[in-house]
Amino acid sequence: AKVAGKNCHRFYSRAMDLAVERRVNLEHELRGAWERGELSLVYQPVYRLADRTLVGAEALLRWNHPVHGQVAPSVFIDVAEQSGLIETLGPRVLRAACLEAMHWQKLQPRGAPLSVAVNVSSRQLRHGGELAQIVADCLRETGLEPSRLHLELTETAVLGDEVHASQMLARLRETGVKVLLDDFGTGFSGLSHLRRVPVDGVKIDRSFIADILRDPDDLALTSAIIAMARSLGITVIAEGVEKAGQYALLRERGCDQAQGYWLGAPLPAGEFRALLSGVR
Ligand code: C2E
Ligand code: CA
Ligand code: CA
Ligand code: CA
Repeated sequence: AKVAGKNCHRFYSRAMDLAVERRVNLEHELRGAWERGELSLVYQPVYRLADRTLVGAEALLRWNHPVHGQVAPSVFIDVAEQSGLIETLGPRVLRAACLEAMHWQKLQPRGAPLSVAVNVSSRQLRHGGELAQIVADCLRETGLEPSRLHLELTETAVLGDEVHASQMLARLRETGVKVLLDDFGTGFSGLSHLRRVPVDGVKIDRSFIADILRDPDDLALTSAIIAMARSLGITVIAEGVEKAGQYALLRERGCDQAQGYWLGAPLPAGEFRALLSGVR
């Protein structure tokens, strides 16, 4: 029995070693990825529902690995967060997105200013004061009008610690940027907390939008979030709109903005600029 146990243990630790090894490799390779030009941002258009006007874009990070090709953001963002790499990567993403948004204005000088939304991970939030400083520096260095920058914070990261969160959000908003709660609805208790947390908008998680045409519960939840947001006077954005019917239903329910494959997939910077030139 001892021998079997030993073997079993050896088998387990080998499997674990492999998983750990893969992770350590990814972490190691992610470390120099920005410098090697393997990381880039794509921009997914965001539209106002009422008249389908383009109002901005969400910046999403991509990693084109020299061997594995495109690595899923859910995988490498997690590696970046666990390893602490996100603390150097985050500010770089922020700066690159702000610089890109400065170009958009030149492409449509008479159009309404477009917003750029950047995802901020919970790890970046923990050092709250520092984040506000990073954001302020970025705005000063790039010259971007503060209200054009939207920071997407996940509901769980923000609502986990209400007291600390309120202070941190207040400090962030002093810079003039707008704060959105991302993946909203995944922690449903958040709906009541919303009154006490100072945010400018919520993004309804795409897992709810996916089934609003078939599932009455998902439609009820989505409608409740929309109604709540409107009564609080904050913007409500739906993500993951893949069908015309979803778009029509969300508009009917009073949702402000939407993004999704039906409206437009995330585009490399050059292609998003081309879209703007066409819009002009
Ligand atoms: P998220 O913030 O919820 O981003 C929206 C995700 O939905 C993106 O996945 C986008 O490509 C995808 N999407 C857009 N439209 C549709 C649609 O119609 N249907 C479906 N099924 N999906 C759609 P992506 O790019 O794989 O990003 C995954 C997550 O990775 C993001 O979720 C975000 O949490 C994180 N992430 C991406 N870029 C960054 C970044 O620069 N910083 C941080 N901290 N996190 C990031
Ligand atoms: Ca997001
Ligand atoms: Ca989301
Ligand atoms: Ca989501």
